[in-house]
Amino acid sequence: MSRRARLIWLVVALVTAAPLAAAEPFAVEPLLTLARRAGLRVVEARHLALVTDLAPRPDDGIDGLPELFDAAFPAWCRHYGLDPAAHDQWRAFGCLVGDRDRFRAAGLLPTDGSVPDFVNGFCARNRFWLADQSNPAYRRHLLLHEGVHAFTLTIRRAASPTWYTEGIAEFLATHRLVDGRFEPTPIPSRAADVEQWGRIETLRRLRAAGAQPALADVLALPPAAHQDIPAYASSWAAVALLSTHPAHARAFAAAERGPLDRDFNTRLAATPGFDAAAAARDFAAFLDDLDYGYDLSRLAVDWTAGTPLAASRTVPVAADRGWQNAGVVLEAGRSYQWRAIGRCRLGTVGRTTLESEPDGISYDWYRDRPIGRLLVAQWHTDGGGPPGFRIVAAGAAGDFRALADGPVFLRINESPAGLADNAAGYTVDIAPRR
Ligand SMILES: [Zn+2]
Repeated sequence: MSRRARLIWLVVALVTAAPLAAAEPFAVEPLLTLARRAGLRVVEARHLALVTDLAPRPDDGIDGLPELFDAAFPAWCRHYGLDPAAHDQWRAFGCLVGDRDRFRAAGLLPTDGSVPDFVNGFCARNRFWLADQSNPAYRRHLLLHEGVHAFTLTIRRAASPTWYTEGIAEFLATHRLVDGRFEPTPIPSRAADVEQWGRIETLRRLRAAGAQPALADVLALPPAAHQDIPAYASSWAAVALLSTHPAHARAFAAAERGPLDRDFNTRLAATPGFDAAAAARDFAAFLDDLDYGYDLSRLAVDWTAGTPLAASRTVPVAADRGWQNAGVVLEAGRSYQWRAIGRCRLGTVGRTTLESEPDGISYDWYRDRPIGRLLVAQWHTDGGGPPGFRIVAAGAAGDFRALADGPVFLRINESPAGLADNAAGYTVDIAPRR
């Protein structure tokens, strides 16, 4: 190696070594010694030593938090294709904080400006601080959220853009307890499983106000923006969509297994199989329909162009799926007529099977319409607001005017959470009006 080559090598080594050193985990034992000396309560399991100044209360669940953390840890490893056994010795040190002064006095909350005056939590390498929450479910969520940061910062040496850093923390922290045990629910099926979490409600409020973000807006979130709830919520939504959508999950996982550095957006865009335009449209469709129980294996949209409708066409619509492409292209401004027949099952109530015909049943309503009602829509991208499905017709028969040049989509009205126990469907005839 020439002197010049050696010098270049040395410079490269120094530059790449700096962030590695910054990701080295803190030693946990000395911090535990400080905590015990200050008389703080310590609860431990394999991967987490948790210290708190909160007085023990019956059923506060705090003693069980390290075990919960241990149960989540293998899921985080698996997400990145890592073997949990290879990270057996990895530990985080968490402070669950009631009174910040007690932690400052114990030497466990730096006053040198290295830890900001956080609202909910803050993570530095494998150390994190968490402001106590009155709701146990939300306390668990925030603990795991900071835990994911500790994991990605040290094990994955992450220095990724804000949307990914916060989105993956939200995605991997979201869980419910089943018989007291951790179960990941990256897209929760019921609000009651994730009390006070509120990300879906936030995104639905944005949608109702016509203010839901485009994927490009989320990918460009500035570093401080994660402090506001809509930014957290949309970062979660971006990671949830890309991780679980059948068309994007494989390319996204490949990008995630590469460096999680500042150039992550560029790396993702360049990953073989990643289609940015398709992801942007699928993200818009995801936010348009997002609700508890949203399951991309049932709700992913087929955007195939289809063929022009010259004469009458008969297409099936299944009760257990979201928007279904009828394979028929309409012309903007032209009138069409439709007629639907058939009977579908919408699940059971007690021992009774709920059945519906295309007008729907008034047993329950979803998004202002009876469940079981046939809905006819088009994907609408102009008209000012964000893109979305616009319902052009509903019920058993009638006529409508096409809003756009493009495919027509059909579905049977019910909440995403209610689709899994549905069966059968309707047959729909669509024809240009003569
Ligand atoms: Zn965070």
